[in-house]
Amino acid sequence: MTLIDGKGTAAEIRRELKRRAEAFEAKSGIKVGLAVVLIGDDPASEVYVRNKIKASEEIGISSIVRRLPAQTTQDEAECTVEELAADASIHGILVQLPLPPHLDEKKILAKIPTNKDVDGFSEENIGLLALGRKGTVACTPLGVMELLKRYHVETRGKNAVVVGRSNIVGRPMALLLLNADATVTVCHSHTKDLKGICAAADILVVAVGKPRFIQADMIKEGAVVIDVGTNRQENGKLCGDVDFEKVKGKVSMITPVPGGVGPMTIAMLLSNAVDAAERTLL
Ligand code: NAP
Repeated sequence: MTLIDGKGTAAEIRRELKRRAEAFEAKSGIKVGLAVVLIGDDPASEVYVRNKIKASEEIGISSIVRRLPAQTTQDEAECTVEELAADASIHGILVQLPLPPHLDEKKILAKIPTNKDVDGFSEENIGLLALGRKGTVACTPLGVMELLKRYHVETRGKNAVVVGRSNIVGRPMALLLLNADATVTVCHSHTKDLKGICAAADILVVAVGKPRFIQADMIKEGAVVIDVGTNRQENGKLCGDVDFEKVKGKVSMITPVPGGVGPMTIAMLLSNAVDAAERTLL
């Protein structure tokens, strides 16, 4: 069994990106610029934003955070994004979700121009992915594809099963696997015979949000298992959606939690930001 090392792979990617960010600066005279819009005071969002900023700065991306209070109006939020959209020194914009409930997320995200949409959440980028064309892809599923690539996992002609169909993970994940010539089945809460479908998967990607949901009898011998789940247990530790201890003897490769998909998400955000900056030089 091979343990897929997301932490090590993400560190390697960050080193590659640092070189690309330096090359961009040498060529353009400005740093790659990333802006994060943080509205309200959700403590988890504070931590995510801090981690994104720290990771950006470590590879030479100049990052700014636009902090707005929880009572920010729709107009103020949209204007903030519009200002960043017009700023040539900002190559990537992300709006940290979730937003306070009175704000219309769809309208605010729509203010991010497609070429600065480093989260890949815009309708145009999702449309491009659905059409199998080049665009910016959501960071978590993109990170999964990067792991499959770097661990030489063949996707062409394989049975790939994605459990979960959220807009940020399951759905784009299924499209990416389809675009990589896998035969894809997407499962969700209404799926009948989940066990049978999962047990036929050569590649199983799980993004459900339920601790140890996938058990050994749902896994094909020799399968590649990617666990996107990040669940906080009562003891404070993280665990995945896959019962790692029970399935590890059956799989050919598996991602651990923590240290699997998680670290890849931020690495892919930085990658999308560097890509966005490099596109301005074309
Ligand atoms: P989500 O929006 O809650 O979606 C969960 C999906 O699981 C839904 O599509 C749901 O189906 C499906 N589901 C629920 N119960 C099921 C069941 N019994 N059988 C089959 N499918 C079932 O969650 P998410 O945002 O995609 O996140 C999923 C997990 O990934 C969470 O643990 C989250 O913390 C983690 N995550 C990790 C990262 C990372 O960087 N590592 C990033 C994002 C998310 P319906 O659509 O029918 O409701």
